[in-house]
Amino acid sequence: MIVQPKIRGYICTTAHPAGCARNVQDQIDYVKQQGLGPGGAKRVLVIGSSTGYGLASRIVAAFGYQAKTIGVFYEKPAEGKRTATAGWYNAVAFDRAAIAEGLYAKSFNGDAFSDEMKERVLETIREDWGGVDLLAYSLASPRRQHPRTGQLSKSTLKPKGTPYTNKSIDFSTDKIISLTLPPATDEEVRQTVDVMGGEDWDMWVGALERARLLGEDFLTLAYSYVGPDVTMPVYRNGTIGAAKDHLEETARQMDRRLRVRGGRAFVSVNKALITQSSSAIPFIPLYFTILMKVMKQKGLHEDCIHQIVRLFKERLYAGGGVPVDEEGRIRVDDWEMRPDVQSEVKAFWEEVSDTNVERCSDLIGYHKDFLKLFGFGLEGVDYEADVEIDVPFPDYNSVPVRP
Ligand code: NAD
Repeated sequence: MIVQPKIRGYICTTAHPAGCARNVQDQIDYVKQQGLGPGGAKRVLVIGSSTGYGLASRIVAAFGYQAKTIGVFYEKPAEGKRTATAGWYNAVAFDRAAIAEGLYAKSFNGDAFSDEMKERVLETIREDWGGVDLLAYSLASPRRQHPRTGQLSKSTLKPKGTPYTNKSIDFSTDKIISLTLPPATDEEVRQTVDVMGGEDWDMWVGALERARLLGEDFLTLAYSYVGPDVTMPVYRNGTIGAAKDHLEETARQMDRRLRVRGGRAFVSVNKALITQSSSAIPFIPLYFTILMKVMKQKGLHEDCIHQIVRLFKERLYAGGGVPVDEEGRIRVDDWEMRPDVQSEVKAFWEEVSDTNVERCSDLIGYHKDFLKLFGFGLEGVDYEADVEIDVPFPDYNSVPVRP
């Protein structure tokens, strides 16, 4: 089939298998050039490993530090003429590339929030590894069914307390619009914390702990975001921020618990980047496009893979203590938050309008990166060629792996 992008709102409903594989391979090639390792965790579990920060974490662990990896994600396979989701193609490409190099890789597609998924993954860890050294939790989901109560919660992206109005961008027309979001109800805040807070992360670590599957220097991390004043009302002080507060508090509590046995838990505050989840957040995409322009001009631009290389190389496995801020968080959003970067972003934000959006922001870069998430616009891929869209995962039972 010839696969073309079909964009609906902030999502592309098709994905290109060869383009996604190219995207994964480009990230692998970049990581291999960084001269990471030895050191680093050797048995790595990544929850949310098919796209964005989770995929980058799995690639850095495997191809930077030769770790065995297990990935968990929720993606759709191809069906009839409908392509699989990009995360499906990414995960297949990752597994094939890892296995081709003799690296252990197994993937689990399904609901990470469920007890059933935790049991399946724990069983595999018990049988294949005997323990885990690093758990990276990089899940971003619009909903969660609570495994104990069965209650369904939905995450909402809204301010708290009062309505919020500001500029935003409509990417179907590239026009600057004024957007007003009503404040969230208390119930919406509660449900967002339920989905994107730290409870499920804690359940994963707790399950590994009870099963005695935590490696000696077990380390776990989850990803958070802070951001500047302009996104504060809708992000950090909004519903999603309440969930991030909960995630960060979970990290502090987990860290106290794990330290007793030589383990650690961290939150890493990462940079704002275009991923499938973040493009859905109101106001944020306009901020990104401006940020991209400023950071590219200053030679500071980074994608997920660059962020995670820096996180592993210069923070987690640099030797010595892990550097953290006054709230105990690792910061790799340091370049984004540099005062010179933020003051230029602020100036462009105030200036940007329909007539100057191309000058004030990196619109072309945004559209290119957005399509890349779905495997489109990558160099070396023949988009006119017929491709097989039904791409299976490797048969793990017949794979020889390095001990
Ligand atoms: P993403 O959308 O690229 O990835 C989300 C992952 O979660 C995918 O692998 C998806 O399959 C998986 N997933 C979703 N629901 C699932 C479920 N029920 N069961 C199993 N897997 C499921 O998201 P991302 O932007 O990489 O975000 C990852 C984390 O990083 C989030 O906590 C996010 O808040 C944080 N973060 C993102 C940014 C950013 O700008 N993108 C910045 C800082 C921090």
